[in-house]
Amino acid sequence: MNQQQLHALLEAQQSIIEQIALSAPLPKTLALICNGIEGLIDSVNSMSSILLFDHGVLRKGAAPRLPAAYNDAIDGVPAQYGVGSCGTAAFTRKQVIVSDIAGDPLWKDYRALAHQHGLAACWSTPIFSSSDEVLGTFAIYYAFPKPPSTTDLELIGRFTHLSSLAIEKARSVEREKSLAQRLQSSNSQLQAFIKEIPDLCIVIDEQGHYVDIYGGSSELLLHQASNVLGRHAVDVLPRNVSEIIISALNRSLSSGEVQTIEYELNLPKGPRIFEGRVSPIETYRQDTPELRHVLLVARDVTAAKEAQQRIQELAFFDALTGLPNRRLLLDRIQAMARQTRREPCHGVLLYIDLDDFKRINDALGHAVGDELLTMVSKRIQYAIRKSDTVARIGGDEFVVALSPEGRTLNDVALAAAQVAQSLQTDFSTPFELYNGEYRITVSIGISVVGRDENAAAEALKQADAAMYQAKSQGGNQFFHYDSAMKKAADTRLLIEREIGAGLLEGQFQAFFQPQLDKQGKLVGAEALARWQHPERGLVPPADFIPVTEQCGLVDNLLDVMLKDSCKLLQSLSSSMKSGDGFTISINISAKQFTDSLEGKLQRILSEFDLSPQLFKLELTESMLMEHSSEASLRIRKLRKLGFRFSIDDFGTGYSSLAYLHTFAVDELKIDSSFIKRLDQTDGLAIVDTIIALTQYLGFTTVAEGVEEQWQVDLLSSRNVSAMQGYIFARPMPAEDFLAWSRAHITNTPPLACSLEALEPQH
Ligand code: C2E
Ligand code: CA
Ligand code: CA
Repeated sequence: MNQQQLHALLEAQQSIIEQIALSAPLPKTLALICNGIEGLIDSVNSMSSILLFDHGVLRKGAAPRLPAAYNDAIDGVPAQYGVGSCGTAAFTRKQVIVSDIAGDPLWKDYRALAHQHGLAACWSTPIFSSSDEVLGTFAIYYAFPKPPSTTDLELIGRFTHLSSLAIEKARSVEREKSLAQRLQSSNSQLQAFIKEIPDLCIVIDEQGHYVDIYGGSSELLLHQASNVLGRHAVDVLPRNVSEIIISALNRSLSSGEVQTIEYELNLPKGPRIFEGRVSPIETYRQDTPELRHVLLVARDVTAAKEAQQRIQELAFFDALTGLPNRRLLLDRIQAMARQTRREPCHGVLLYIDLDDFKRINDALGHAVGDELLTMVSKRIQYAIRKSDTVARIGGDEFVVALSPEGRTLNDVALAAAQVAQSLQTDFSTPFELYNGEYRITVSIGISVVGRDENAAAEALKQADAAMYQAKSQGGNQFFHYDSAMKKAADTRLLIEREIGAGLLEGQFQAFFQPQLDKQGKLVGAEALARWQHPERGLVPPADFIPVTEQCGLVDNLLDVMLKDSCKLLQSLSSSMKSGDGFTISINISAKQFTDSLEGKLQRILSEFDLSPQLFKLELTESMLMEHSSEASLRIRKLRKLGFRFSIDDFGTGYSSLAYLHTFAVDELKIDSSFIKRLDQTDGLAIVDTIIALTQYLGFTTVAEGVEEQWQVDLLSSRNVSAMQGYIFARPMPAEDFLAWSRAHITNTPPLACSLEALEPQH
């Protein structure tokens, strides 16, 4: 190669390498290579061709001087032995020099084609990649037979190498491009996917900072994602939630295991419950491989939780009526049993079974039967208190569990009997179904809930047995499992009925017992209730007041007492009514001392045109203690109206003298038990103390139950304001009282004198 050729070669080489470096399109670079070698070998006669190997065939690369038709014809020829110089070279991986196509067997099948395009010689060299793969062929054609010179071969070697570089570079650019494309498309797929997944994926570093947030609608975040990134969980979430997450993060990083957590967040759209999985990530950031991370995948499970709740409901409630089922009932009864272990109370069950329900159900069909059962369940619910439980535990079987109250067994039995009775009354109203009215009766079994472990099942069994008893006796009745309880309840119910009837028929009346002062002057009377029973005669209040209180008739009794007292006052001489301080004391029990009392007093007093000053209301001290704040408020109001107040049975309750000043009352009644003990030193001391204190507080004092003259004498020597007792008179009907008072007034002096005589000498 001469100097000039060498120079040309370098120049060609440089411009080709430049193109390769610039990643120029491959056909352009290959054409440049072809031009380069042609200019160096034989700028007139040589025609170069580069074919590219592609899956077993050779494809057009560049051949700027060869006829286009020829190029098209050989495009896609197989890389096989005997397919001209190029096919054979690619196949054998060896240089194939054909100096004369005309006589060469390798050109047998392509000779005509070559001839047609005036091609006579073809030297082809395989192009190898750096990893020795065949990339294509590099060939020089001539229009006349010709072997290559040494320089030719040397040049061919150089340009084949340049071709290899160009092709490899182009391929790698191609690969990179498609890789980038593939990456981009998979990335956008991932993005689309992440955007759609309902879960919130948060990458948190080991220190607790938010690093990345993927997926989940932003509605699930407490703050906008952009405001959260880079911040610590403690600064983003409420303390209790961030604590849960950070502790799961630590556990997950130290154990390398997934941690499951649950937390609640108050999002703008309302409170939501999240279930999260915290899992460690090996390397999350290439730039800081030493920093460890976790992935928190959180899912809003609020709806699922609600569904769970609903399932729970289905498991514990009857589908038709919505009432608790047997399972829930047993739970509740067992809870009652536990309560009765701690507190003095008893739970009680009523097992209710509809009489003859099967007949209605069979005759009218199940739809009507269901309708009836729904109405029955409503009627039962209506009859009981909110705190009680009604359950449906079988086709037509219901159970009511009355919530325990601090009561005796007999009271509990009675309460159950009352509920049973009112249910039976409720059921006497017929049920209106679409095709007519139906009358249904019920059989009820009553049992008391025990205290032990299987109290619930046991009580249910007993109530069931009692219900069968009721049924076997013709239905439409209730039965106590325990016969003693039955008896007690029966008696009580009988008394209740009798009291109700007695009040209507005027069997109740007030008796009056006089109160006298030290001079023997009549200063007042206490009204005491009496029941004139048609068979049992005069019944004392102790036998009926508690019952009237429990069955709600105590109000009617108070009416009788007030009206009788008013009548007596009207019959008394006018001098007694005005000015001289005569009063009638009315006993007011806790159940009567309500907000409605004021209205009742005013109504009755105005009916008789009497002033409140004529009345003292007696309250027991235990009542004052229990309801002190409400009671004192009520007392103040009534006192403003003119009524006076007295503390009854003082000394028997648990109040103490220390509390006395807190009650704004006018009078104190020393209980008869102290009067009985006046002959003992301590009894006298107590009474003296009481009197001293009442005087100091400005109350008057009445001694109750004075039966003996020595008591009268002793009390008269003390500062008691009045005395009341059998020694003066027993409680009497109004007419007797009037007669007694008339007689008393004319006979007063002797007592007064004897009392005066006993005044202590100071
Ligand atoms: P209390 O208010 O302490 O009434 C005094 C009771 O002592 C009366 O009994 C009276 O008959 C009786 N007593 C009076 N003097 C003597 C005596 O010298 N010796 C003895 N041993 N007893 C005497 P009663 O009438 O049986 O009343 C009993 C309780 O019934 C009353 O006690 C009162 O707490 C209550 N009570 C009576 N009537 C009513 C009423 O109308 N409403 C209310 N809520 N309670 C009433
Ligand atoms: Ca009293
Ligand atoms: Ca009393």
